[in-house]
Amino acid sequence: MRLEGKVAIVTGCARERGIGRAIAMRLASEGADILAADYCRSIPEYPDAKFGQMAELEGVASEIRKLGRRSIAVKVDVTDEAEVATMADAAMKEFGRVDILCNNAGGGVGGGPVIQQTLDSWNRTVGINLTGTFLCAKHVAPKIIAGGRGGRIVNTASIAGKRGSPMMAAYSAAKHGVIGLTRSLALELGAFKITVNAVCPGFVETQLLEGLINMIGSTGNLNREQVLETFVRQVPMGRIETGEDVANVVAFLASEDGGYMTGQALNICGGVEVH
Ligand code: NAD
Repeated sequence: MRLEGKVAIVTGCARERGIGRAIAMRLASEGADILAADYCRSIPEYPDAKFGQMAELEGVASEIRKLGRRSIAVKVDVTDEAEVATMADAAMKEFGRVDILCNNAGGGVGGGPVIQQTLDSWNRTVGINLTGTFLCAKHVAPKIIAGGRGGRIVNTASIAGKRGSPMMAAYSAAKHGVIGLTRSLALELGAFKITVNAVCPGFVETQLLEGLINMIGSTGNLNREQVLETFVRQVPMGRIETGEDVANVVAFLASEDGGYMTGQALNICGGVEVH
C-alpha cells in the first residue's frame, strides 16, 4: 500500500484524536507528502462549535516531518472558494503535484429539531460538509488531472449519510449529498483515472462525537458513559470506533490496490446496520 512520491491534501485534520489527523498520519506513514488543512478559527455566533486551530495543525505537519515526509499546514475555510483555490495553489507551489484529496472537513453548528433549526445553522452545516467537498474537488481535481497520472479522491461521509439522524437533519442531509456528489464525480473523473469514493464511519471517538454526546446527554438526562453505552449497543463489533479504523480504509482507497474501486460509499462502522 506504499504511497512514496505521492502528495495528499487532507482537510479537517488538526484536532487531536480526529479522523483527519489519523488519515494524514497514516498516508504519511505510507510515504506520502501531506498538505494538512483546517479551519483555524472560531465562529463567534456558535461558541459551542469547536474547530481545529493553527497551533494544532502546525503540530500535525511537524509530526509528519518527523516521519521524514514533507508537510505544510494551510489555514482554509472549505466553504470559501477563494481560500480553497489558494490551498490548491499552495500544494502545487510546495510539492509541484497533487495525487490524493481527502475531503474530511465536516461537522456542524446548531442542530436540534428541524422545526426549530435556523436557516443560518442549516446553511453553515450544509456548507461545511457538502459545499466544502464540492469546492475542494472543483479546485483540486484539475491539479490531479494536469499531472496526467490519475489520482484519488476520498470523501468522509457518515452512516448519517445513509439513514436519518434526528436532531442532526442538516448534517444527515449534507452527508447524503456527499455520497451523491461522490457518485457523480466518479462518473466524471474516471476518464482521468481518478477514483472517487466515500467512507461512512459510525461512532468515532473524536472531539466531534463529544459534542454529540453532550447534546444527547443533556436532552435525555444521561451521563457520558450512558450515552456511549447506547452507541456501543448498536455496534456488533462491540466497541466504539477510532480514527485509525477509518484511516486504514482510506489508505487502501488511496493506494494502487484500490485502483479499480470507484463511486462507492463504504461503511466503516463495526457492522451498525445501514442500507
Ligand atoms: P473533528 O472535529 O476532529 O474533525 C472535523 C474537522 O473539520 C475539524 O478539524 C474542523 O476544524 C474541520 N472543519 C470544520 N469546518 C471547516 C471549514 N469550514 N473549513 C475547514 N475545516 C473545517 O471530528 P471528526 O469526528 O474527526 O470528523 C471528521 C470527519 O468525519 C467529518 O467529516 C465528520 O462529519 C465525519 N464523521 C465523524 C463521525 C464521528 O463519530 N466522529 C462519524 C461519521 C463521520
